[in-house]
Amino acid sequence: MTHGTGTKGVAVLGSTGSIGTTALRVLERQRDRFRVVALTANSNRALLSEQVKRFAPAFVGMVEQQGDADDSWKSGSDALISAATRDDVDIVLNAIVGAAGLDATLAALEKGKRVALANKETLVIAGDVVKQACATGCGEVVPVDSEHSAILQCITGHPASQVRRVVLTASGGPFRGWSEEQLAKATVEDALRHPTWQMGRKITVDSATLANKALEVIEAHFLFDLPYDRIDVVVHPQSVIHSFVEFIDGSVVAQMSVPTMELPVLYALTHPERVSDVGVPPFDPVRLSPMTYEPVDHQRFPALRLGIEAGRAGGSAPAVFNAANECAVAAFLAGKIRFTDIPRAIAAALDTLGDMPAGSRENLLAADGAARKHVKEMFQC
Ligand code: NAD
Ligand code: MG
Repeated sequence: MTHGTGTKGVAVLGSTGSIGTTALRVLERQRDRFRVVALTANSNRALLSEQVKRFAPAFVGMVEQQGDADDSWKSGSDALISAATRDDVDIVLNAIVGAAGLDATLAALEKGKRVALANKETLVIAGDVVKQACATGCGEVVPVDSEHSAILQCITGHPASQVRRVVLTASGGPFRGWSEEQLAKATVEDALRHPTWQMGRKITVDSATLANKALEVIEAHFLFDLPYDRIDVVVHPQSVIHSFVEFIDGSVVAQMSVPTMELPVLYALTHPERVSDVGVPPFDPVRLSPMTYEPVDHQRFPALRLGIEAGRAGGSAPAVFNAANECAVAAFLAGKIRFTDIPRAIAAALDTLGDMPAGSRENLLAADGAARKHVKEMFQC
């Protein structure tokens, strides 16, 4: 469905963040295909105002709007739903961080929109509910996450029955070579120094614990209908190969590019088409060599195993994993707990709450709330 001039209308939720600003760079170059009709942010008024001047969207939402609000801007979390369900929106780019992105995804899918999904937490909390919303409203989820975009690019044109296995690549994060003793003393500044990607603070910490890769394994399970024993992870520090797909004849196809989120953002907007763009620096295999691989060290990075176990357990366990992680990462970023407390918090929450009822958005949000409470009480924060 397109409107007016033949361009597609895009709502960018979380437009002031790392993915949001990346997406606006892409959309600015692709003005003959897409127009920005809605922008939302949490609280960064200055940047949102600047974006509103540049794109003149029909709808602007700021969730935490203060007293000096611009009357025409909508406030509160309802603004996210309003932006995501507008008639002139064809594609909702969900670049919100954390569980706050769930309801807008569900609402957009129920209205039959394409959701270009960066907000992986949506699928981790409520993968089955998201799939139900897709079925009810004829919406579709297209991943923005680079690994999942890579898999989608590799499998497009092949039936699912031809896929034997996928292998997600992980950079290993800033602590790849660190000992357990060093990890126990890691500071916020250390954790935010990612070697290959410039991202928001929460996902950067998730990359340091490898909780991000756990979220991505669960995301892949729901996106591609793959059982967990057909999803593997390998550490690839250069972040050039974004994932591998092994087909049933043993052939392995990989997708690669210099690390940039502009390409997966654009592909999520245009899939299954490819369009001409200049967002990715030229590919020079010699300059990018060597490309190396290592196994994951589950001893030093227990969050990955905990997340995969939660995924396998199913039900509310992934929602508990996600909420405990979100809460613990916020506490770590606020200087209240140590880096190694993050996986401890996740393990404790899963031990106590991993089998809470699932099946509906309400049950999953109750599990989410209980996990946050559990972590807060554990660290009295
Ligand atoms: P970020 O912190 O830079 O930006 C988050 C955005 O969400 C901001 O615009 C903020 O205003 C908005 N936001 C935050 N809390 C909100 C709330 N309660 N309600 C409404 N809006 C809210 O984060 P990011 O790095 O851009 O990541 C966004 C999502 O994309 C995350 O789910 C992350 O895992 C995923 N992702 C990011 C990258 C990356 O390169 N940054 C790569 C892959 C996936
Ligand atoms: Mg990723």
